[in-house]
This record gives sequence, structure tokens and C-alpha cells, in this order.
Amino acid sequence: MADIIKGEGLDRTDIDTPLREISFASAAARQLSRDIPVVRVLPDVNVIKVGGQSIMDRGRSAVHPLVEEIARVKADHKLLTCVGGGTRARHAYSVALDLQMPTSILAKVGLNVPVQNARMLQLLLAPHGGILIDHEAFGQLPLYYAMGCLPILPGMPPYGYWEKPARTGRIPTNRTDSGTYLTAEVMGARSCIFVKDEEGLFTANPKVDKHAKHIPRIHAQELLDAGLPDLVVEPVVLENLLRAETVKQVQIINGLIPGNLTRALNGEEIGTIIYAD
Ligand code: ADP
Ligand code: MG
Repeated sequence: MADIIKGEGLDRTDIDTPLREISFASAAARQLSRDIPVVRVLPDVNVIKVGGQSIMDRGRSAVHPLVEEIARVKADHKLLTCVGGGTRARHAYSVALDLQMPTSILAKVGLNVPVQNARMLQLLLAPHGGILIDHEAFGQLPLYYAMGCLPILPGMPPYGYWEKPARTGRIPTNRTDSGTYLTAEVMGARSCIFVKDEEGLFTANPKVDKHAKHIPRIHAQELLDAGLPDLVVEPVVLENLLRAETVKQVQIINGLIPGNLTRALNGEEIGTIIYAD
């Protein structure tokens, strides 16, 4: 236990902790916090993201088989399913940009479409235990798993007004890929799997460049350094991967092919793995 002591100048009390009289901006403070490993909160939970544009917007033909697969794999794997926004979110961003809204308002506006998608996915998964949650419910997750539920979380992180200014432009840097990855990292999850509509990462957007080559496995730093013209995940995910304490890889799979999610959950290296270690 820490003791209450008199400070150096004797004009204030202090608590004798390892962080006493170290500036949080100092290298010493950063080193101290690095020596303490972080706890893994739910190490057997797999955080997956169902893409907005890549899956939800495609409607029944893409969503129903995935719903059936999620319902099946639930017997073998604990899932926390995050959901993206997609085309309607893009439209909202473009209206907000035209109306001269700042990044923070775009981030607030961008929260609503993933909520709509999460609500619809939850209803489809309701017979299998689907429940709609938000980040305030993280404390109840163990209870939900014990009761056989399938928690569905809108993927947008709740930065809202506090979304940091983007490096360029005013589209929020942290959207639903970022929220999904950070959810996995805070949970110390077993895996973080992005379910989209391509076989993972290519050297360019395969919808635009037919000669784009598939990249099965790449280090996050190498990918950032490559400066590809376009990416299959939000670039901030790569930056956060490099700083991660628990979840040091993400996998991107094609969710339009039935069985892929099951294979990824079973540890198969399909699609693309982006790692940092
Ligand atoms: P989500 O539905 O999860 O928001 P996105 O549509 O934002 O997913 O991202 C997936 C899309 O990214 C793919 O459909 C693909 O067209 C595009 N993309 C852009 N660059 C790449 C790349 N280098 N490799 C693979 N896909 C890419
Ligand atoms: Mg996206």
C-alpha cells in the first residue's frame, strides 16, 4: 500500500507511489507504465466486424448466409460482433461536409448509421441470442456470454465531439474499423477479424485495379511504409496495431464466401493477416 508522506518542500502532502513527482510527459513515466503488463479482460472473445458497405448494404444475399454462419459458430466461439455504416454513412458525411460541419460533428453523425445496421443485424440474430449493446454495456459482457447471448455493437467509437482533427481533410480518422480494433484491444480479445467483400489486402483496390496482387501477410509498419494508394482497413488501425499491448494482429476475410468466418475463427490464415510484433 502507498503511504501518505510530506512532499519535498513540506508544503504539500503526497502519496508515495512509483509515479510520485514524475512528470507524465517524461520518459521515466512512460517506461514505468511499460513495465507493467496489461490484463486481458476477455481473452477468449473474438471481435469481428461485419462491414457496412461490403456486407450490410448488399442486403439479404450477403447478410443472411453470414447470419446463419454466425449462429453456427457461436457453439464453438465467443463473438463480439461490431457493425459498420457503409453507403448511408458516406452520404451523411458528404452532406455534413457540404454544410461545412467540423470533424467532430461528422464523427457524431457517423455514429447513427452503424447503430441502424447493428439494430437490423441484432434482429436477424435475435433467435440465436443476438442483443444490441453499446460500449456502456462492456461491464455486462461476461453475463451476456454466460447466458448464451451474441452481443452486437455499433462499430463507431464514441469519440464524437472529441474526435481528433484528421491529418488531412475532415473525415473522422476513427470510424468503424478503428472502433472495432480498439474494442478488441481493450478486451485483450483472442482475435480481431474484419469481414468484408474481398480476399483481404491487395496492392491496390481490386475493384479498380484488375492487376492488384493479393497480400496474404504483412507487418503493419511495412504496410504503412509501402504507402499504398488505398487500403482495405482504416489506416489508423495500422498505427494502433503498432502500439498495441494485447491484440497484435488483425485478419481481413471475404465474408461473401460461406465458411470463411468459421475458417478464420478456427485459426486458418485465409484472407490477409496484418501483424505487429
Ligand atoms: P466496410 O464495409 O467494412 O466499411 P470498406 O468498403 O470500407 O469496408 O472497405 C473494403 C473495400 O476496400 C473493399 O471492398 C475494396 O474495394 C476496398 N479497397 C481499397 N483498397 C484496397 C486494397 N489495397 N486491398 C483490398 N481492398 C481495398
Ligand atoms: Mg469502411
